[in-house]
Amino acid sequence: MILIRKNVCETSTNLAQVSIKTIGDYLVFDDHIEAKLHGIEYRKVSDDIRFPLAFRLSGEDTVSVKFGNQTLNSFDPVIIAGPCAAESEEQIWQTGEFLSKLGVTIFRAGCFKPRTDAYSFQGLGLTGLQITKSMCKDKKMLFVSEVTNMSNFDAVCEYADVIQVGSKCMYDVGVLRSLGQLSKPVLLKRHFGATLREFVQAADFILSNGNTNIALCERGIRTFEKDTRFSLDSCGIEWIRKHCRLPIIGDPSHALGETYGIKQLSRGLVAQGIWGLLIETHPRPEDALSDSKQQLNFEQFRNLYTNITKLKTSLKSTW
Ligand code: PEP
Ligand code: MN
Repeated sequence: MILIRKNVCETSTNLAQVSIKTIGDYLVFDDHIEAKLHGIEYRKVSDDIRFPLAFRLSGEDTVSVKFGNQTLNSFDPVIIAGPCAAESEEQIWQTGEFLSKLGVTIFRAGCFKPRTDAYSFQGLGLTGLQITKSMCKDKKMLFVSEVTNMSNFDAVCEYADVIQVGSKCMYDVGVLRSLGQLSKPVLLKRHFGATLREFVQAADFILSNGNTNIALCERGIRTFEKDTRFSLDSCGIEWIRKHCRLPIIGDPSHALGETYGIKQLSRGLVAQGIWGLLIETHPRPEDALSDSKQQLNFEQFRNLYTNITKLKTSLKSTW
């Protein structure tokens, strides 16, 4: 099949009339029109590929994805950090102060938390967004926060610089389509029960509506294993690198669900050539209102950060 952006079709007389269907911002055509496409930008993908926009064509570069003014790249992965959830003004400012002094420029905190237990902490909502935004402004950090459904979509998009789609929201095509209409970058987490194809198909919903600023995030999948929270899918990361043209970030915190191996998993991901890391840290993890067991305290985070910085330097000559 051949995909051409609708606005490109408008410049060529009669082209739109022979399209087979529409996918978001794109018109789809049979391969036989290729001969007529001189000077027209198009994508040609085999019909059985159900993620034609995210699919990496032979020799195609990774899409240039920008978080603020930083373009994600796999030789110098970005570190995104912060607590699982914004809990109080004090906790947000303490964490922001600590991280920005260390050199972290992207702060992440959830304000609407999708919880399995309806009676546990649901996030500070709008107040959390406001507190975190003003801290990030002060520290000149980018703010990443999670949208969980359309009821908080507008609020999160108003305050956050990067919109995270949490694992449980990955299948919400309404949210995905709406994100496609934004120009803000998106961090799309894999559902813990999603196959790799379903994961990249979710990215296609966003791409098909015009937003190409998408980073994927591998955060562990549910397997038969019970002794780790989830299983980090390193093979999946390589499948994505081969078959998908979007960058992928690794989240060892949610995968392992404990603090003890986060540094080692992070080192592995960086050596693997990941585009970024997402790490949870909290001033007092033992008191955290969500994901308490996996959040690093500041000492543990400092140790991880300095270690990863050294590792990145020593890997430089090997890429
Ligand atoms: C989170 O990032 O804090 C979170 C809830 O992660 P996930 O959606 O991957 O479970
Ligand atoms: Mn969390």
